[in-house]
Amino acid sequence: MNRKTRMFWMLNKVKIIIIGVIFLLVVFAIVGMSALESFYRRLTMAQMPVHLIMAGFSAVVFVSMYSLFLRGGMTKINRDKISSENVNVKWDDVIGIEEVKEEAKEVVELLKDRTKLTKIGGKILRGLLMVGPPGCGKTLLAKAIATEAGIPFISMAASEFNEIFVGVGSSKIRKLFKKARILAHGHGACIIFIDEIEAIGRQRTFSFGGGQETNNTLNQLLVEMDGLKDDKMSIVVMGATNASESVMDPALLRPGRFDRKIYIGKPGLEGREELFKYYLTKVNCDSEIDVSRLARKTVYKSPADIENIVKEAALIAAREDRELITHREISAAIERIDMGIKHKRKMTEQERRRVAYHESGHLMVLCFLHPTDDVFKASIISRKDSLGAVHHQPREELFTSDRNQLMANIQVALGGYAAEELVFGVTSNGVVGDFQKAMAEAHNMVWRFGMGGNGHIGDFTVIPPEQISEKTKEHLNNETMVIFSKCLKKVKKLLSDERALLDKFAAELLQKEELEYDEIEEIFKTHVPEDRRTAKKKYTAASEPSS
Ligand code: ZN
Repeated sequence: MNRKTRMFWMLNKVKIIIIGVIFLLVVFAIVGMSALESFYRRLTMAQMPVHLIMAGFSAVVFVSMYSLFLRGGMTKINRDKISSENVNVKWDDVIGIEEVKEEAKEVVELLKDRTKLTKIGGKILRGLLMVGPPGCGKTLLAKAIATEAGIPFISMAASEFNEIFVGVGSSKIRKLFKKARILAHGHGACIIFIDEIEAIGRQRTFSFGGGQETNNTLNQLLVEMDGLKDDKMSIVVMGATNASESVMDPALLRPGRFDRKIYIGKPGLEGREELFKYYLTKVNCDSEIDVSRLARKTVYKSPADIENIVKEAALIAAREDRELITHREISAAIERIDMGIKHKRKMTEQERRRVAYHESGHLMVLCFLHPTDDVFKASIISRKDSLGAVHHQPREELFTSDRNQLMANIQVALGGYAAEELVFGVTSNGVVGDFQKAMAEAHNMVWRFGMGGNGHIGDFTVIPPEQISEKTKEHLNNETMVIFSKCLKKVKKLLSDERALLDKFAAELLQKEELEYDEIEEIFKTHVPEDRRTAKKKYTAASEPSS
Protein backbone atom coordinates (compact mmCIF):
# COMPACT_ATOMS: atom_id res chain seq x y z
CA MET A 1 0.00 0.00 0.00
CA ASN A 2 1.40 3.39 -0.83
CA ARG A 3 1.26 6.39 1.47
CA LYS A 4 -1.78 8.09 -0.07
CA THR A 5 -4.01 5.01 0.04
CA ARG A 6 -2.89 4.34 3.59
CA MET A 7 -3.79 7.89 4.57
CA PHE A 8 -7.18 7.55 2.85
CA TRP A 9 -7.80 4.36 4.84
CA MET A 10 -6.82 5.99 8.13
CA LEU A 11 -8.99 9.05 7.56
CA ASN A 12 -12.04 7.11 6.40
CA LYS A 13 -11.69 3.89 8.37
CA VAL A 14 -15.09 4.16 10.04
CA LYS A 15 -16.94 5.07 6.85
CA ILE A 16 -15.43 2.19 4.91
CA ILE A 17 -16.34 -0.33 7.61
CA ILE A 18 -19.94 0.93 7.84
CA ILE A 19 -20.42 0.80 4.07
CA GLY A 20 -19.03 -2.76 4.02
CA VAL A 21 -21.38 -3.94 6.77
CA ILE A 22 -24.44 -2.40 5.08
CA PHE A 23 -23.50 -4.01 1.82
CA LEU A 24 -23.24 -7.45 3.47
CA LEU A 25 -26.61 -7.02 5.23
CA VAL A 26 -28.34 -6.14 1.96
CA VAL A 27 -26.86 -9.19 0.27
CA PHE A 28 -28.02 -11.45 3.11
CA ALA A 29 -31.50 -9.91 3.03
CA ILE A 30 -31.88 -10.51 -0.70
CA VAL A 31 -30.69 -14.10 -0.42
CA GLY A 32 -33.04 -14.74 2.53
CA MET A 33 -36.07 -13.14 0.88
CA SER A 34 -35.70 -15.12 -2.31
CA ALA A 35 -35.99 -18.32 -0.27
CA LEU A 36 -39.39 -17.26 1.22
CA GLU A 37 -42.82 -17.93 -0.20
CA SER A 38 -44.35 -14.98 -2.00
CA PHE A 39 -46.90 -14.17 0.79
CA TYR A 40 -44.21 -13.96 3.48
CA ARG A 41 -41.96 -12.04 1.17
CA ARG A 42 -44.64 -9.37 0.67
CA LEU A 43 -45.39 -9.31 4.39
CA THR A 44 -41.72 -8.66 5.21
CA MET A 45 -41.49 -5.94 2.54
CA ALA A 46 -44.59 -4.26 3.94
CA GLN A 47 -43.21 -4.22 7.48
CA MET A 48 -39.85 -2.79 6.46
CA PRO A 49 -40.79 0.95 6.45
CA VAL A 50 -42.34 0.61 9.89
CA HIS A 51 -39.18 -0.99 11.23
CA LEU A 52 -37.07 1.76 9.72
CA ILE A 53 -39.18 4.52 11.26
CA MET A 54 -39.08 2.84 14.68
CA ALA A 55 -35.30 2.45 14.50
CA GLY A 56 -34.86 6.08 13.51
CA PHE A 57 -37.12 7.22 16.32
CA SER A 58 -35.28 5.28 18.98
CA ALA A 59 -31.97 6.56 17.69
CA VAL A 60 -33.14 10.15 18.05
CA VAL A 61 -34.42 9.49 21.58
CA PHE A 62 -31.17 7.84 22.57
CA VAL A 63 -28.93 10.55 21.17
CA SER A 64 -30.89 13.37 22.76
CA MET A 65 -30.94 11.61 26.13
CA TYR A 66 -27.21 11.02 25.90
CA SER A 67 -26.41 14.58 25.06
CA LEU A 68 -28.80 15.98 27.65
CA PHE A 69 -27.49 13.95 30.53
CA LEU A 70 -23.89 13.39 29.70
CA ARG A 71 -22.75 16.40 27.78
CA GLY A 72 -24.99 19.08 29.18
CA GLY A 73 -27.20 19.99 26.26
CA MET A 74 -27.91 19.27 22.63
CA THR A 75 -25.91 22.18 21.33
CA LYS A 76 -22.61 20.73 22.40
CA ILE A 77 -22.90 17.66 20.22
CA ASN A 78 -20.95 19.03 17.33
CA ARG A 79 -18.59 21.37 19.10
CA ASP A 80 -15.27 19.68 18.63
CA LYS A 81 -14.91 20.34 14.96
CA ILE A 82 -11.42 20.56 13.66
CA SER A 83 -11.34 22.58 10.49
CA SER A 84 -8.87 21.56 7.87
CA GLU A 85 -9.43 24.01 5.10
CA ASN A 86 -7.97 24.05 1.69
CA VAL A 87 -6.07 27.18 2.37
CA ASN A 88 -4.78 29.09 -0.56
CA VAL A 89 -3.12 32.23 0.69
CA LYS A 90 -0.12 33.44 -1.26
CA TRP A 91 2.57 35.84 -0.11
CA ASP A 92 0.94 38.48 -2.30
CA ASP A 93 -2.21 38.28 -0.21
CA VAL A 94 -0.30 39.16 2.93
CA ILE A 95 0.14 42.90 2.78
CA GLY A 96 1.19 45.71 5.02
CA ILE A 97 3.51 43.68 7.23
CA GLU A 98 6.61 43.42 5.06
CA GLU A 99 9.19 42.91 7.82
CA VAL A 100 7.25 40.02 9.29
CA LYS A 101 6.90 38.44 5.88
CA GLU A 102 10.65 38.09 5.66
CA GLU A 103 10.67 36.11 8.88
CA ALA A 104 7.79 33.99 7.67
CA LYS A 105 9.67 33.22 4.46
CA GLU A 106 12.54 31.97 6.56
CA VAL A 107 10.13 29.67 8.38
CA VAL A 108 8.90 28.33 5.04
CA GLU A 109 12.48 27.60 4.01
CA LEU A 110 12.97 25.70 7.27
CA LEU A 111 9.82 23.68 6.61
CA LYS A 112 10.74 22.90 3.02
CA ASP A 113 14.29 21.89 3.77
CA ARG A 114 13.52 19.67 6.69
CA THR A 115 15.22 16.61 5.26
CA LYS A 116 18.31 18.61 4.47
CA LEU A 117 18.24 20.04 7.93
CA THR A 118 17.90 16.71 9.67
CA LYS A 119 20.88 15.44 7.75
CA ILE A 120 23.02 18.36 8.82
CA GLY A 121 21.67 18.05 12.33
CA GLY A 122 20.17 21.50 12.48
CA LYS A 123 17.42 22.52 14.82
CA ILE A 124 14.01 21.51 13.71
CA LEU A 125 11.06 23.82 14.05
CA ARG A 126 8.35 22.45 16.33
CA GLY A 127 6.44 25.42 17.60
CA LEU A 128 5.97 28.96 16.40
CA LEU A 129 4.24 31.62 18.41
CA MET A 130 2.80 34.68 16.73
CA VAL A 131 2.34 37.62 19.05
CA GLY A 132 0.56 40.83 18.12
CA PRO A 133 -2.54 42.98 18.47
CA PRO A 134 -5.83 41.71 17.00
CA GLY A 135 -6.60 42.28 13.35
CA CYS A 136 -3.00 42.32 12.19
CA GLY A 137 -3.13 39.20 10.08
CA LYS A 138 -1.77 36.41 12.27
CA THR A 139 -4.15 33.80 10.89
CA LEU A 140 -3.54 34.97 7.35
CA LEU A 141 0.20 34.68 7.86
CA ALA A 142 -0.11 31.15 9.23
CA LYS A 143 -2.18 30.16 6.20
CA ALA A 144 0.33 31.74 3.87
CA ILE A 145 3.13 29.76 5.50
CA ALA A 146 1.14 26.56 4.99
CA THR A 147 0.33 27.37 1.36
CA GLU A 148 3.84 28.43 0.45
CA ALA A 149 5.36 25.38 2.09
CA GLY A 150 2.72 23.14 0.51
CA ILE A 151 1.68 21.60 3.81
CA PRO A 152 -1.84 20.79 5.04
CA PHE A 153 -3.22 23.18 7.62
CA ILE A 154 -5.65 22.41 10.41
CA SER A 155 -6.88 24.99 12.85
CA MET A 156 -8.84 25.40 16.03
CA ALA A 157 -9.48 28.27 18.41
CA ALA A 158 -8.16 27.61 21.89
CA SER A 159 -11.39 28.83 23.45
CA GLU A 160 -13.05 25.73 21.99
CA PHE A 161 -10.92 23.59 24.27
CA ASN A 162 -12.34 25.19 27.36
CA GLU A 163 -15.13 23.01 28.59
CA ILE A 164 -16.85 22.72 31.90
CA PHE A 165 -16.63 18.97 31.68
CA VAL A 166 -13.42 17.49 32.94
CA GLY A 167 -11.34 15.82 30.29
CA VAL A 168 -13.18 17.15 27.25
CA GLY A 169 -10.55 19.81 26.56
CA SER A 170 -7.65 17.39 26.68
CA SER A 171 -9.45 14.81 24.56
CA LYS A 172 -9.98 17.50 21.92
CA ILE A 173 -6.25 18.19 21.95
CA ARG A 174 -5.57 14.49 21.49
CA LYS A 175 -7.98 14.37 18.54
CA LEU A 176 -6.40 17.41 16.96
CA PHE A 177 -2.93 15.93 17.11
CA LYS A 178 -4.16 12.54 15.93
CA LYS A 179 -5.64 14.10 12.84
CA ALA A 180 -2.45 16.06 12.26
CA ARG A 181 -0.40 12.88 12.47
CA ILE A 182 -2.56 11.18 9.87
CA LEU A 183 -2.29 14.16 7.53
CA ALA A 184 1.45 14.37 8.10
CA HIS A 185 1.71 10.71 7.26
CA GLY A 186 0.23 11.35 3.83
CA HIS A 187 1.78 14.67 2.99
CA GLY A 188 5.06 14.53 4.84
CA ALA A 189 4.15 17.38 7.19
CA CYS A 190 1.26 19.24 8.75
CA ILE A 191 0.62 22.57 10.43
CA ILE A 192 -1.60 22.82 13.47
CA PHE A 193 -2.81 26.35 14.06
CA ILE A 194 -4.21 27.23 17.48
CA ASP A 195 -5.75 30.68 17.63
CA GLU A 196 -6.16 32.70 20.87
CA ILE A 197 -3.74 30.32 22.51
CA GLU A 198 -3.71 32.42 25.67
CA ALA A 199 -7.11 30.90 26.46
CA ILE A 200 -5.36 27.67 27.43
CA GLY A 201 -1.76 28.83 27.60
CA ARG A 202 -2.04 31.19 30.57
CA GLN A 203 0.16 30.46 33.51
CA ARG A 204 -1.16 27.45 35.30
CA THR A 205 -2.86 28.06 38.60
CA PHE A 206 -2.22 25.67 41.42
CA SER A 207 -5.24 26.46 43.49
CA PHE A 208 -8.23 24.30 44.21
CA GLY A 209 -11.38 24.96 42.30
CA GLY A 210 -11.44 26.94 39.07
CA GLY A 211 -8.87 26.62 36.37
CA GLN A 212 -8.22 22.94 36.85
CA GLU A 213 -9.69 22.02 33.49
CA THR A 214 -7.58 24.61 31.68
CA ASN A 215 -4.52 23.16 33.40
CA ASN A 216 -5.41 19.68 32.14
CA THR A 217 -5.84 20.98 28.62
CA LEU A 218 -2.52 22.78 28.76
CA ASN A 219 -0.78 19.72 30.17
CA GLN A 220 -2.15 17.63 27.35
CA LEU A 221 -0.87 20.18 24.82
CA LEU A 222 2.58 20.04 26.39
CA VAL A 223 2.58 16.25 26.32
CA GLU A 224 1.55 16.18 22.66
CA MET A 225 4.15 18.76 21.70
CA ASP A 226 6.88 16.82 23.46
CA GLY A 227 5.68 13.69 21.68
CA LEU A 228 6.41 15.37 18.36
CA LYS A 229 10.13 15.12 19.06
CA ASP A 230 10.13 11.36 18.62
CA ASP A 231 7.93 11.40 15.55
CA LYS A 232 9.58 11.02 12.21
CA MET A 233 6.80 13.11 10.70
CA SER A 234 6.98 16.84 10.74
CA ILE A 235 4.21 18.53 12.58
CA VAL A 236 4.54 22.21 13.36
CA VAL A 237 2.33 23.82 15.94
CA MET A 238 1.59 27.50 15.42
CA GLY A 239 -0.03 29.52 18.13
CA ALA A 240 -1.40 33.02 17.86
CA THR A 241 -2.04 35.37 20.73
CA ASN A 242 -3.06 38.97 21.38
CA ALA A 243 -1.78 38.84 24.91
CA SER A 244 1.84 39.49 25.68
CA GLU A 245 4.24 36.63 26.08
CA SER A 246 4.55 37.30 29.79
CA VAL A 247 1.08 35.95 30.55
CA MET A 248 1.91 32.65 28.86
CA ASP A 249 2.93 29.67 30.92
CA PRO A 250 6.73 29.48 30.88
CA ALA A 251 6.54 25.76 30.15
CA LEU A 252 5.05 26.57 26.75
CA LEU A 253 7.98 28.75 25.79
CA ARG A 254 10.68 26.24 26.64
CA PRO A 255 12.96 24.89 23.87
CA GLY A 256 11.25 22.28 21.73
CA ARG A 257 7.88 23.88 22.26
CA PHE A 258 7.05 27.42 21.13
CA ASP A 259 10.66 28.47 21.01
CA ARG A 260 10.40 30.55 17.88
CA LYS A 261 8.41 33.75 17.96
CA ILE A 262 7.18 36.16 15.35
CA TYR A 263 6.04 39.59 16.49
CA ILE A 264 3.42 41.14 14.29
CA GLY A 265 2.86 44.83 14.86
CA LYS A 266 0.54 47.38 13.36
CA PRO A 267 1.50 48.40 9.83
CA GLY A 268 3.58 51.53 9.24
CA LEU A 269 2.85 54.31 6.78
CA GLU A 270 3.95 52.30 3.73
CA GLY A 271 2.10 49.24 4.94
CA ARG A 272 -1.11 51.22 5.30
CA GLU A 273 -0.66 52.61 1.78
CA GLU A 274 -0.31 49.08 0.43
CA LEU A 275 -3.39 47.99 2.34
CA PHE A 276 -5.52 50.84 1.03
CA LYS A 277 -4.34 50.15 -2.53
CA TYR A 278 -5.20 46.47 -2.13
CA TYR A 279 -8.67 46.92 -0.66
CA LEU A 280 -9.59 49.83 -2.91
CA THR A 281 -8.99 47.71 -6.00
CA LYS A 282 -11.78 45.47 -4.79
CA VAL A 283 -14.37 48.23 -4.81
CA ASN A 284 -15.48 50.84 -7.27
CA CYS A 285 -13.45 53.86 -6.31
CA ASP A 286 -12.49 57.23 -7.66
CA SER A 287 -9.07 57.00 -9.33
CA GLU A 288 -8.20 60.38 -7.85
CA ILE A 289 -8.05 59.02 -4.30
CA ASP A 290 -4.80 59.99 -2.64
CA VAL A 291 -3.73 56.78 -0.94
CA SER A 292 -0.83 58.34 0.91
CA ARG A 293 -3.14 60.88 2.50
CA LEU A 294 -5.43 58.09 3.67
CA ALA A 295 -2.44 56.28 5.10
CA ARG A 296 -1.44 59.40 7.02
CA LYS A 297 -4.94 59.74 8.33
CA THR A 298 -5.05 56.21 9.73
CA VAL A 299 -2.08 56.13 12.06
CA TYR A 300 -2.24 53.13 14.47
CA LYS A 301 -4.91 51.33 12.42
CA SER A 302 -4.59 47.59 11.85
CA PRO A 303 -5.10 45.81 8.50
CA ALA A 304 -8.51 44.64 9.68
CA ASP A 305 -9.46 48.23 10.56
CA ILE A 306 -8.48 49.38 7.09
CA GLU A 307 -10.47 46.63 5.43
CA ASN A 308 -13.37 47.66 7.61
CA ILE A 309 -13.02 51.31 6.64
CA VAL A 310 -13.16 50.51 2.93
CA LYS A 311 -16.18 48.25 3.40
CA GLU A 312 -17.96 50.87 5.47
CA ALA A 313 -17.18 53.49 2.80
CA ALA A 314 -18.71 51.21 0.17
CA LEU A 315 -21.83 50.89 2.33
CA ILE A 316 -22.09 54.64 2.75
CA ALA A 317 -21.70 55.14 -1.02
CA ALA A 318 -24.36 52.53 -1.73
CA ARG A 319 -26.77 54.09 0.73
CA GLU A 320 -26.39 57.46 -0.93
CA ASP A 321 -26.71 55.99 -4.43
CA ARG A 322 -23.23 56.95 -5.46
CA GLU A 323 -21.31 54.86 -7.95
CA LEU A 324 -17.81 55.74 -6.83
CA ILE A 325 -16.14 55.83 -3.45
CA THR A 326 -14.35 59.12 -2.91
CA HIS A 327 -12.41 60.73 -0.10
CA ARG A 328 -15.66 61.94 1.34
CA GLU A 329 -17.06 58.43 1.89
CA ILE A 330 -13.80 57.11 3.31
CA SER A 331 -13.51 60.05 5.66
CA ALA A 332 -17.07 59.45 6.84
CA ALA A 333 -16.30 55.76 7.33
CA ILE A 334 -13.25 56.49 9.48
CA GLU A 335 -15.27 58.80 11.67
CA ARG A 336 -18.13 56.39 12.01
CA ILE A 337 -15.77 53.62 13.09
CA ASP A 338 -13.78 55.85 15.45
CA MET A 339 -16.53 57.95 16.96
CA GLY A 340 -19.84 56.24 16.35
CA ILE A 341 -22.85 57.22 14.32
CA LYS A 342 -24.04 60.81 14.11
CA HIS A 343 -26.87 61.62 16.34
CA LYS A 344 -29.03 64.64 15.67
CA ARG A 345 -29.87 66.26 18.97
CA LYS A 346 -31.91 69.37 19.23
CA MET A 347 -29.75 71.92 21.00
CA THR A 348 -30.63 75.48 21.87
CA GLU A 349 -28.75 78.19 20.05
CA GLN A 350 -26.98 79.11 23.30
CA GLU A 351 -25.74 75.55 23.82
CA ARG A 352 -24.61 75.15 20.22
CA ARG A 353 -22.59 78.34 20.57
CA ARG A 354 -20.94 77.05 23.71
CA VAL A 355 -20.08 73.72 22.10
CA ALA A 356 -18.69 75.51 19.03
CA TYR A 357 -16.42 77.67 21.19
CA HIS A 358 -15.43 74.70 23.34
CA GLU A 359 -14.32 72.68 20.30
CA SER A 360 -12.66 75.71 18.74
CA GLY A 361 -10.65 76.04 21.94
CA HIS A 362 -9.27 72.52 21.51
CA LEU A 363 -8.68 73.25 17.85
CA MET A 364 -6.73 76.44 18.51
CA VAL A 365 -4.37 74.76 20.96
CA LEU A 366 -3.75 71.94 18.52
CA CYS A 367 -2.97 74.37 15.71
CA PHE A 368 -0.66 76.60 17.71
CA LEU A 369 0.90 74.53 20.45
CA HIS A 370 0.90 70.84 19.66
CA PRO A 371 4.26 69.71 18.32
CA THR A 372 3.24 66.43 16.71
CA ASP A 373 -0.50 66.24 16.17
CA ASP A 374 -2.56 67.46 13.24
CA VAL A 375 -6.28 68.08 13.31
CA PHE A 376 -8.17 66.02 10.79
CA LYS A 377 -11.61 67.17 11.61
CA ALA A 378 -13.56 69.33 13.99
CA SER A 379 -17.26 68.84 14.42
CA ILE A 380 -20.18 69.98 16.54
CA ILE A 381 -22.42 67.12 15.45
CA SER A 382 -23.17 64.95 18.45
CA ARG A 383 -22.21 61.30 18.53
CA LYS A 384 -22.65 58.74 21.28
CA ASP A 385 -22.14 60.78 24.45
CA SER A 386 -20.21 63.73 23.08
CA LEU A 387 -21.66 66.92 21.70
CA GLY A 388 -18.69 67.68 19.52
CA ALA A 389 -15.19 66.52 18.80
CA VAL A 390 -11.84 67.51 17.45
CA HIS A 391 -10.23 64.57 15.74
CA HIS A 392 -6.47 64.67 15.84
CA GLN A 393 -3.52 62.34 15.65
CA PRO A 394 0.24 62.42 15.18
CA ARG A 395 1.52 62.83 11.65
CA GLU A 396 3.38 59.56 11.95
CA GLU A 397 3.28 56.86 14.56
CA LEU A 398 5.08 57.60 17.78
CA PHE A 399 5.89 55.04 20.40
CA THR A 400 6.98 57.38 23.16
CA SER A 401 6.14 60.95 24.10
CA ASP A 402 8.50 63.54 25.53
CA ARG A 403 7.67 66.20 28.08
CA ASN A 404 6.70 68.76 25.43
CA GLN A 405 4.19 66.42 23.86
CA LEU A 406 2.66 65.49 27.18
CA MET A 407 2.37 69.15 28.17
CA ALA A 408 0.76 69.83 24.79
CA ASN A 409 -1.76 67.02 25.38
CA ILE A 410 -2.77 68.65 28.65
CA GLN A 411 -3.01 72.04 26.99
CA VAL A 412 -5.22 70.65 24.23
CA ALA A 413 -7.52 69.07 26.81
CA LEU A 414 -7.79 72.37 28.69
CA GLY A 415 -8.55 74.34 25.51
CA GLY A 416 -12.28 73.70 25.78
CA TYR A 417 -12.52 74.92 29.37
CA ALA A 418 -10.39 78.01 28.69
CA ALA A 419 -12.46 78.98 25.66
CA GLU A 420 -15.75 78.67 27.58
CA GLU A 421 -14.38 80.80 30.37
CA LEU A 422 -12.93 83.44 28.09
CA VAL A 423 -16.02 83.83 25.93
CA PHE A 424 -18.92 83.25 28.32
CA GLY A 425 -17.41 83.99 31.72
CA VAL A 426 -18.92 80.75 33.06
CA THR A 427 -17.96 77.18 32.27
CA SER A 428 -20.05 74.02 31.90
CA ASN A 429 -19.81 70.46 33.10
CA GLY A 430 -19.00 69.48 29.49
CA VAL A 431 -15.35 69.72 30.51
CA VAL A 432 -15.35 66.64 32.72
CA GLY A 433 -13.91 64.27 30.13
CA ASP A 434 -11.21 66.78 29.23
CA PHE A 435 -10.26 67.27 32.88
CA GLN A 436 -10.00 63.54 33.44
CA LYS A 437 -7.57 63.25 30.56
CA ALA A 438 -5.50 66.27 31.58
CA MET A 439 -5.37 65.36 35.27
CA ALA A 440 -4.31 61.78 34.55
CA GLU A 441 -1.58 62.99 32.22
CA ALA A 442 -0.22 65.52 34.73
CA HIS A 443 -0.38 62.98 37.55
CA ASN A 444 1.53 60.41 35.51
CA MET A 445 4.14 62.94 34.51
CA VAL A 446 4.94 63.68 38.14
CA TRP A 447 4.33 60.33 39.80
CA ARG A 448 5.69 58.02 37.15
CA PHE A 449 7.83 59.72 34.51
CA GLY A 450 10.06 61.90 36.67
CA MET A 451 8.86 65.08 34.98
CA GLY A 452 7.99 67.10 38.05
CA GLY A 453 10.17 70.05 38.88
CA ASN A 454 11.14 69.51 42.55
CA GLY A 455 13.67 66.73 42.35
CA HIS A 456 11.33 63.82 43.03
CA ILE A 457 12.35 61.56 40.19
CA GLY A 458 11.19 57.99 39.75
CA ASP A 459 8.06 55.91 39.48
CA PHE A 460 6.34 56.40 42.82
CA THR A 461 3.43 54.14 41.95
CA VAL A 462 5.58 51.04 42.50
CA ILE A 463 5.96 51.95 46.18
CA PRO A 464 3.02 50.89 48.37
CA PRO A 465 1.11 54.10 49.27
CA GLU A 466 1.61 53.61 53.01
CA GLN A 467 5.38 53.66 52.57
CA ILE A 468 5.43 57.08 50.91
CA SER A 469 5.60 59.87 53.46
CA GLU A 470 2.78 62.39 53.60
CA LYS A 471 5.29 65.10 52.83
CA THR A 472 6.44 63.40 49.63
CA LYS A 473 2.85 62.88 48.55
CA GLU A 474 2.13 66.52 49.16
CA HIS A 475 5.16 67.56 47.13
CA LEU A 476 4.17 65.33 44.25
CA ASN A 477 0.57 66.45 44.22
CA ASN A 478 1.61 70.08 44.40
CA GLU A 479 3.82 69.53 41.41
CA THR A 480 0.90 68.00 39.51
CA MET A 481 -1.11 71.13 40.20
CA VAL A 482 1.81 73.33 39.12
CA ILE A 483 1.91 71.58 35.75
CA PHE A 484 -1.85 71.85 35.47
CA SER A 485 -1.99 75.55 36.18
CA LYS A 486 1.03 76.34 33.99
CA CYS A 487 -0.72 74.67 31.10
CA LEU A 488 -3.97 76.46 31.75
CA LYS A 489 -2.21 79.80 31.92
CA LYS A 490 -0.50 79.23 28.61
CA VAL A 491 -3.76 78.20 26.93
CA LYS A 492 -5.65 81.18 28.32
CA LYS A 493 -2.97 83.54 27.04
CA LEU A 494 -3.02 81.95 23.61
CA LEU A 495 -6.79 82.18 23.31
CA SER A 496 -7.02 85.78 24.41
CA ASP A 497 -4.08 86.79 22.16
CA GLU A 498 -5.67 85.07 19.19
CA ARG A 499 -9.28 85.82 20.04
CA ALA A 500 -10.09 86.85 16.45
CA LEU A 501 -9.16 83.41 15.11
CA LEU A 502 -11.07 81.68 17.90
CA ASP A 503 -14.18 83.63 16.88
CA LYS A 504 -13.57 82.73 13.25
CA PHE A 505 -13.31 79.00 13.96
CA ALA A 506 -16.41 79.06 16.15
CA ALA A 507 -18.39 80.92 13.49
CA GLU A 508 -17.31 78.49 10.78
CA LEU A 509 -18.26 75.52 12.97
CA LEU A 510 -21.66 77.02 13.76
CA GLN A 511 -22.29 77.50 10.09
CA LYS A 512 -20.88 74.27 8.61
CA GLU A 513 -21.06 71.96 11.66
CA GLU A 514 -17.95 70.16 10.43
CA LEU A 515 -14.55 71.39 9.33
CA GLU A 516 -12.16 69.16 7.40
CA TYR A 517 -8.38 69.18 7.57
CA ASP A 518 -8.06 71.30 4.40
CA GLU A 519 -10.56 73.90 5.59
CA ILE A 520 -8.86 74.20 8.95
CA GLU A 521 -5.44 74.58 7.35
CA GLU A 522 -6.85 77.20 4.99
CA ILE A 523 -8.35 79.29 7.78
CA PHE A 524 -5.23 78.96 9.90
CA LYS A 525 -2.87 79.97 7.10
CA THR A 526 -4.90 82.93 5.89
CA HIS A 527 -5.41 84.35 9.38
CA VAL A 528 -2.05 83.74 11.00
CA PRO A 529 1.16 85.20 9.61
CA GLU A 530 3.96 82.71 9.20
CA ASP A 531 6.13 83.95 12.05
CA ARG A 532 3.41 83.09 14.56
CA ARG A 533 2.89 79.49 13.40
CA THR A 534 6.00 78.28 15.10
CA ALA A 535 5.30 75.33 17.38
CA LYS A 536 5.44 72.62 14.75
CA LYS A 537 8.35 73.96 12.77
CA LYS A 538 10.48 74.38 15.88
CA TYR A 539 9.69 70.89 17.00
CA THR A 540 10.52 69.24 13.70
CA ALA A 541 13.81 71.12 13.57
CA ALA A 542 14.72 70.17 17.12
CA SER A 543 13.79 66.53 16.77
CA GLU A 544 15.89 65.97 13.66
CA PRO A 545 18.72 63.57 14.52
CA SER A 546 21.89 65.56 15.07
CA SER A 547 24.30 63.12 13.45
ZN1 ZN B 1 -13.66 69.05 25.21
